[in-house]
Amino acid sequence: MHPIPLVLLLSAPSSAPLGCDEVGSPFGQENTFALEGRVFSRFGEARASYVRGHKHAGVDMRGDYRATIYPVCAGLVTAVQLSFPHLTVVVRHHRPDGSIFHSSYKHVTDVRVAEGELVTRTTALARLFDEAEHRRAKFGRAPVHLHFEVLVRTDDEGAASWSAMSMQALRRYRSDPMELFGSRGGSLSPPSPRR
Ligand SMILES: [Zn+2]
Repeated sequence: MHPIPLVLLLSAPSSAPLGCDEVGSPFGQENTFALEGRVFSRFGEARASYVRGHKHAGVDMRGDYRATIYPVCAGLVTAVQLSFPHLTVVVRHHRPDGSIFHSSYKHVTDVRVAEGELVTRTTALARLFDEAEHRRAKFGRAPVHLHFEVLVRTDDEGAASWSAMSMQALRRYRSDPMELFGSRGGSLSPPSPRR
């Protein structure tokens, strides 16, 4: 028996937050190019809920009922906020170049992490709704899904998620999640042949 597991020595410096050097799918160990097929509502689309006509601040990704949701890379849980059906987990990430961004996971339940917790790509954050919860959420014809955002700033206190009326206003606080996956696409597994 090893007194200290080798993996901890390699991956978890005690003081610094875990770095975000590889971005993967919030649905686990799948190629990030598979995410294109999950998206049914894109960044910047006009939305009717809350402030009518606001720009969609993230992407909606279809998943299976009860699908486990993972952080897109290692980081620190900074918020578990709102309530059903908008319960949201927010994770802060530090890139190797020193820049910071946050990822946000909405329409989840059974949250398994707490604020202040360090997470890695294999930490289960929460799960998507089951069929009964999905009916209760009243998402209309939308399938069970993850609403995923990339936050470039957080001093909007979340308001950009429901009130940005122009792309300029939205991009001040959010970026297109597909750009995040595009720039590091396939880093966890080989690119698909058609790329
Ligand atoms: Zn959405």
